[in-house]
Amino acid sequence: MRLAEVFYSIQGEGPAMGRPATFIRLAGCNLSCAGCDTDLKPWQDLAIPEVQSKVTGSRVIITGGEPTLQMSELAELIRLLCLDGKEIHIESNGTNLIPEEVLKNIRCVVISPKRGSGFHLDFWSGKRNVHLKFVMGSAPWCWTSEQLEKLVPTLARDRVWLMAYGAEQDMAGAANVWDLALRLGVNYSDRLHIRMMKR
Ligand code: SF4
Repeated sequence: MRLAEVFYSIQGEGPAMGRPATFIRLAGCNLSCAGCDTDLKPWQDLAIPEVQSKVTGSRVIITGGEPTLQMSELAELIRLLCLDGKEIHIESNGTNLIPEEVLKNIRCVVISPKRGSGFHLDFWSGKRNVHLKFVMGSAPWCWTSEQLEKLVPTLARDRVWLMAYGAEQDMAGAANVWDLALRLGVNYSDRLHIRMMKR
């Protein structure tokens, strides 16, 4: 499978914020969001058991790029990690559906829908192990308060997360996102890995 990198760290955002995990970052994405902070270029081709063998600890977060672009390899990797007893999380932009037989083996799916893309909101919002993370900011794919004020009341609020766009340590805009999350009764996500960057 096409692998960008594997590393062990602490999850900085979303429902598993603050928890340690092995991150498996798969290569390639089907979107090209302006200001994407993921380096999508370098990757290596590794056999699935080789990727499996790089996992340490009990929690695995599979991310990208867009991990669902390699669906059959992804399904096999998840099956093997599940047999190893790992707690599996995945992060996706939601534009590709994940089959039910794969979904049932994932503890936590985080879908971050990009405005203007086909992200299958009806499918994801009906799944109990799926959290929706909306990124707010000025980029064309980010969400505005007005849009979220209309959309959020149609969703299960305990599985909605709002997060500010930004790769700067001071996280400008985070306070406004905090206020909106409070007003709408949904979860706020910080970006702890950005806050912890060495100055
Ligand atoms: S979906 Fe994510 S990884 Fe893909 S281009 Fe957009 S921000 Fe980058």
